Amino acid sequence: VALTKEDIIRLVDEEGVQFIRMQFTDIFGQMKNVAITADQLGKALRGEIMIDGSSIEGFVRIEESDQYLHPDLSTFAILPWRPQYGRVARLICDVYNPDGLPFVGDPRQVLKTQLKRASDMGFTFYAGPECEFFLFQTDDHGKPTNQTTDNAGYFDLGPLDQGESTRREICLNLEEMGFEIEASHHEVAKGQHEIDFKYAEALTAADNIMTFKLAVKTIAQMNGLHATFMPKPVAGEAGSGMHVNMSLFHDGKNAFYDESDPMGISQLARHFIAGLLAHVQGFTAITNPLVNSYKRLVPGYEAPCYLAWSAGNRSALVRIPTPRGNATRVELRSPDPACNPYLTLAVCLAAGLDGIEQQLSLPEEINENVYSFTPQQLKDRHIDKLPATLDGALTALTQDQVVQDALGTHITEQYIAGKRREWEAYRSQVSQWELDQYLVSF
Ligand code: ADP
Ligand code: MG
Ligand code: MG
Ligand code: MG
Ligand code: MG
Repeated sequence: VALTKEDIIRLVDEEGVQFIRMQFTDIFGQMKNVAITADQLGKALRGEIMIDGSSIEGFVRIEESDQYLHPDLSTFAILPWRPQYGRVARLICDVYNPDGLPFVGDPRQVLKTQLKRASDMGFTFYAGPECEFFLFQTDDHGKPTNQTTDNAGYFDLGPLDQGESTRREICLNLEEMGFEIEASHHEVAKGQHEIDFKYAEALTAADNIMTFKLAVKTIAQMNGLHATFMPKPVAGEAGSGMHVNMSLFHDGKNAFYDESDPMGISQLARHFIAGLLAHVQGFTAITNPLVNSYKRLVPGYEAPCYLAWSAGNRSALVRIPTPRGNATRVELRSPDPACNPYLTLAVCLAAGLDGIEQQLSLPEEINENVYSFTPQQLKDRHIDKLPATLDGALTALTQDQVVQDALGTHITEQYIAGKRREWEAYRSQVSQWELDQYLVSF
């Protein structure tokens, strides 16, 4: 919805909003915000709210720290879980330099740049995420655990599913914020849930993912539970993914659909998928950003490990779900919900557009369960692997110019430096597994 400054001033007054949270996201995907009182709204709408970028991870150096928040007026929303008296609203913002230019380290800006590239080619990019998460108990001191008393499995319902009422509350709150919830269900692992909301233009989709995560965490906490988007919180159980469904529209029509094709997909869709496969190793550090992300990407849990595509096979990295017509879409199954959604959608789009520009051709479809392939079979059929560690993914990123160009030099450098520190910190730990395995035997 297009809102004017006047609309927002009127809404704030009519709805009794007393605080406005000016939100943005750092390069590692953390939401940041500064709350202002309603008196400051005029200043905020003029883009005069300042932040100290040197205190935000991956933003800027001390010498050039003043940055300005430019609210995107269409993102105005009241946070329904906050008190009804003295209500709280939010505005999602773009980050600008003092010279009035967009800040190159702002992830939302990175996505906008790729969307502009797509629109110059005549395309609108739509994305629909499937965000999984766990609801865990807190201990006697209110501290988060990775325990749950929930015993439910895929699509189970209450009373087995103890998270059900919390999940319901999350859905209701999101609907109040204008989300169209398509489905919500218990997932495979104990304590694991999925809520699917309707796909949207990619910028809105990324904003929605940030809002979704905040709502889930907040409402879980209000119910005495801890929500986590950590990709693999319990060894031996399924991890949490965030499948990303994508499509390109041209003149209001789904450009991935081709009625005359035996599979019902267009040549454009094939190039797009080929582009994803060509750059997925290079962008895995973005879609799977944590040391822990790689504990999810192992065989046996419907999480992908190999670079294969298929129409139906859920062990493949890229799947083409059954619906056709305007619902024709490509599903990338590797991303996890710890990723920065702006950067994730930007690199996926950049990869797909590169496939289109270079007219990359698609390797053969793999309809068998790839987990069951022997190393020799994988080799014979030219099936490559996703990086197995964050370290490997960072190395692959340094070798992919298309992905680096999409991120820009500033974010590429800051991201790699930050993530290398994370990897080094992890590398020097001694884990329980190592103690169990080696302490006695050696
Ligand atoms: P799955 O079968 O993988 O579990 P879901 O039904 O959970 O899939 O989720 C499908 C997602 O795809 C939803 O978010 C939906 O809105 C989205 N979607 C539907 N059509 C399109 C489209 N044309 N482009 C992008 N996303 C789409
Ligand atoms: Mg799903
Ligand atoms: Mg589904
Ligand atoms: Mg799922
Ligand atoms: Mg899916």
